[in-house]
Amino acid sequence: MDDSVIVHIGLGANLDDPRRQILDALVELEQLEGCAALRASSLYASLPMGPPDQPDYINAVAEMECRLPPEILLDALQILENRHGRIRRQHWGPRTLDLDLLLFGERRIDTPRLKIPHPGLTERAFVLLPLAELMGEEWRIPGVGRLGDCLERVDLAGVRRLGGGEA
Ligand code: ATP
Ligand code: CA
Ligand code: CA
Repeated sequence: MDDSVIVHIGLGANLDDPRRQILDALVELEQLEGCAALRASSLYASLPMGPPDQPDYINAVAEMECRLPPEILLDALQILENRHGRIRRQHWGPRTLDLDLLLFGERRIDTPRLKIPHPGLTERAFVLLPLAELMGEEWRIPGVGRLGDCLERVDLAGVRRLGGGEA
């Protein structure tokens, strides 16, 4: 695609058959106008961040080629979240689907609505592990640094890669 950039999207779900939510969302991302899905990581199971009285999460990272402007891609991701019945009640509370725009090529964005790289990226094992599966630990995260260095600074306990058929 001309004028397209490689973007990375973090997926998370912990309600209403989270594994199904993520697998369906990966197909829906693939069908997004203006984007072509390239690759997806394995699914990962992770302990909840924030309020502990909620089910464990399923996470993954998708890589896409995209020629939409970043704000329009965010619109599309939020429409998908809503289509999956997402209701925002509590900060970091349980959700049917969360789609975070982690990286948008080399772009850095800092507006009230959109921050790229995603501010949680460097602190979250459930994002860094699937990203490392796709990009390798030597990859330099644009605007951040070597992925392997980020991984060394986070607690990897509580996140595990799921094999086929699990979860
Ligand atoms: P976190 O952002 O810490 O992972 P969250 O995913 O639970 O928390 P949401 O309620 O999904 O947070 O999003 C709150 C707002 O964050 C959104 O309305 C969106 O405008 C804003 N936002 C800023 N940067 C990004 C980004 N890179 N990707 C997705 N949303 C973003
Ligand atoms: Ca999130
Ligand atoms: Ca989000």
